[in-house]
Amino acid sequence: MSIAHDCPSGSASGGREKLLLIDGQRVPAVAGRVFKTLNPATGEVIATVAEGDAADVDRAVAAARRAFEGPWRTMRAAERGQILYRLVDLMKQHTDEIAAIESLDAGKPISAVLRQDLPAALDTLAYYAGWADKIHGDVVPVRDDALTYTVREPVGVVAAIVPWNFPLMIGMWKLAPALACGCTVVMKPAELTSLSALRIGDLALEAGLPPGVFNIVTGPGRVVGDALVNHPDVDKVTFTGSPGVGRGILRGAAGNFKRVSLELGGKSANVIFDDADLDAATKAAASGIFFNSGQVCSAGSRVLAQEKVYDEVVERLTARARSMRLGDPADRATALGPVISEKQMNTILGYVDIGLKEGARLTTGGERIGDRGYFLSPAVFADVKHEMRISQEEIFGPVVSVIRFKDEADALRIANGTAYSLAAGVWSRDIGRVQRFARRVKAGTVWTNTYGYTDVRLPWGGAGDSGFGREHGTEAIANFTEPKAVWMNLNV
Ligand code: NAD
Repeated sequence: MSIAHDCPSGSASGGREKLLLIDGQRVPAVAGRVFKTLNPATGEVIATVAEGDAADVDRAVAAARRAFEGPWRTMRAAERGQILYRLVDLMKQHTDEIAAIESLDAGKPISAVLRQDLPAALDTLAYYAGWADKIHGDVVPVRDDALTYTVREPVGVVAAIVPWNFPLMIGMWKLAPALACGCTVVMKPAELTSLSALRIGDLALEAGLPPGVFNIVTGPGRVVGDALVNHPDVDKVTFTGSPGVGRGILRGAAGNFKRVSLELGGKSANVIFDDADLDAATKAAASGIFFNSGQVCSAGSRVLAQEKVYDEVVERLTARARSMRLGDPADRATALGPVISEKQMNTILGYVDIGLKEGARLTTGGERIGDRGYFLSPAVFADVKHEMRISQEEIFGPVVSVIRFKDEADALRIANGTAYSLAAGVWSRDIGRVQRFARRVKAGTVWTNTYGYTDVRLPWGGAGDSGFGREHGTEAIANFTEPKAVWMNLNV
């Protein structure tokens, strides 16, 4: 496999330093520091970004607090919704530019950004724009001498900490409901992928978002993220990332009892019974693990195949992995781009070594392709045992472990046998079996005879090492609002 390198290096960056967004202004970091962001397809610098620290976080949180107590909270809810709809329109007008930035910065195939990331971000924003004026409490009659009712109030200043695998989409999963509920936001993008958030910040101002409602502080997680998590004037942290950082966030949030929601990793099982449509199942299993180069929290990184069809599943997955078109993310025909960084590439290659040492059989892939950029050939491990590290630990790369199972009970035991529980898939023509599995599997989302779909109208999240709380739908409205009970004495 070889790769053509004709990426539009630097074209989306404009070459200037990318500044923080605080209180409606583009500003450099207080300390004047900057960092470089690279194109994962080439390893070349595409932009220089302001590197914030605790002093910048202080300014951003203060601006967010002022905007919360001032214009955003007191604005008519319908008007808040209109501003968000204007942002939808502006993002649509800049589709090609935003998609190019995301593709360049995150190494995502442009076709995937246009088909998936950007439409999902727009759908999320439009969905919550519609919610802005529909958030209400209830009248709860308790006794005759009182009017008793509830209202839902915004929680306040929200810290949104975003990972690099879906910067635009996951950023919007946090920003849109928070703003619709009347909260203000300080966003910290992942340091590897700051650029799309910064562009959305410009468009948000153009859409009429008052200064301070949406602030962006770029920089390292252990500095900027940590300062946000420990800040006494932040009311809520919404985080997507790794379990290790999630644990630290819980500890930091304890200081002022911040509300926290954590969307963490996964080691999701995609279970193929011997009566399944094998063509459909293996096609979906391949995209379930190789989409976004496997850097997906809900990736079907464990394919469980029943004994009778095990060899055929391995064969078909191997053929699909070999046929995937790896290459320049800017080329619309590319299906598989690079992984995000050299560090991530080395972690994934390390897991390939671990799998081989553990005695699993690598049927294809697992190698670096070329010496420029961070391209890996998609890997299929057969003869994987449930206890092996490649079956238990999140690799977050294009590596699938195919595990053999005997019967329904065995499949369920293996599927439920990791620390994670984010998502699962099950393939069978037996409706009873599919339903039994869907009930008993530990997962926040179960796909039956399909894999990988998400929609902002359905709750998203997990349990155990996959975190807690749910994003999307009405769950997100509950996340960003606080119910208040009002008891009004009528005997006055
Ligand atoms: P990460 O935890 O290293 O980083 C996530 C974010 O947290 C980044 O913005 C980072 O800068 C910040 N951060 C790092 N250290 C911090 C600290 N000490 N305090 C506060 N913030 C800090 O994870 P990642 O490498 O960006 O993303 C990969 C992980 O995210 C994987 O484990 C993956 O499964 C998970 N993920 C989960 C979901 C989901 O919906 N459940 C979605 C995408 C990714």
